[in-house]
Amino acid sequence: MIWGQGSQRKSSGVAENNREIIKKQIKKDINTYTFFLANNNNQRELYVGKMVNIYDKGEISADSPLTNFIPSYYASRVGTSADDNNLFVDVTTFFKVDSNYLDNIKLMSNGKEILSIKNSSSVFLVNIDEKLEKLLIEILSNSETNFQYQAEQENVPDDVTVEDIPKNKPSITLGNGTSSYKRDSRISKTAIVTAKYKCEIDAIHKDFISRVTGKNYVEAHHLIPVEYQDDFTNSIDVEANIVSLCVGCHKKLHHATSTDIKSLIEKLYNSRIKRLKDCDIELTKAKLLSYYK
Ligand SMILES: [Zn+2]
Ligand SMILES: [Zn+2]
Repeated sequence: MIWGQGSQRKSSGVAENNREIIKKQIKKDINTYTFFLANNNNQRELYVGKMVNIYDKGEISADSPLTNFIPSYYASRVGTSADDNNLFVDVTTFFKVDSNYLDNIKLMSNGKEILSIKNSSSVFLVNIDEKLEKLLIEILSNSETNFQYQAEQENVPDDVTVEDIPKNKPSITLGNGTSSYKRDSRISKTAIVTAKYKCEIDAIHKDFISRVTGKNYVEAHHLIPVEYQDDFTNSIDVEANIVSLCVGCHKKLHHATSTDIKSLIEKLYNSRIKRLKDCDIELTKAKLLSYYK
């Protein structure tokens, strides 16, 4: 994913020497992060992504395929005169972090703390303390745990309804030289809510009550794993392809031998094939089983 900052003012943006510092840091493999503070109904939300590249001014041309990864409200400026103040960085997927950590980020200038991040709109060089760095390393290195954590936190009403229709493929996340399709934690949560927080292998499976939701803890699993998105013309990040599973069944699907999980996959296939068809996702049982070999 490419994230950026656009500005009408010449004075804002990132000074050239700071851009160089960031570049060198990334080259030396020093963990470098981008923070993004969102305003969601007056609630400040902190997102973080690990930076894998920072682009030079004008490096991304208007016809570059990279513009597909840039949010549309920035992408329209690429190659125009307003582009001069744009800043684009390539980051791993943004993760939402507990806003309590806002206090662990200090804006420094010449070794002196100048502001708390709470009252600044956008800055590009900050110091973070060890505690926050530890958390970041953990969530960025364990994307699966973090994805389940994000999905759990999504606020989806119990009476949500789902319409199974074909959807366009999701955007691609770039990072560390690899690319992967982005999963939307809200879609996963919606699948869990419509499954009424039950394990779809057997509703009797219960692990514990989630501290976050107050409901039976389950995890979201993409029946057709996301890494096979390229085999399909439409998005497989749809509720029809996401099943709600207890911890044991979920682990089993990821780690057990294909012989041991064959009956589970078949059961999920039979319960979902009609809905997948509604989303224009063509899938044979044999094909699905081959994804778990
Ligand atoms: Zn899974
Ligand atoms: Zn189960």
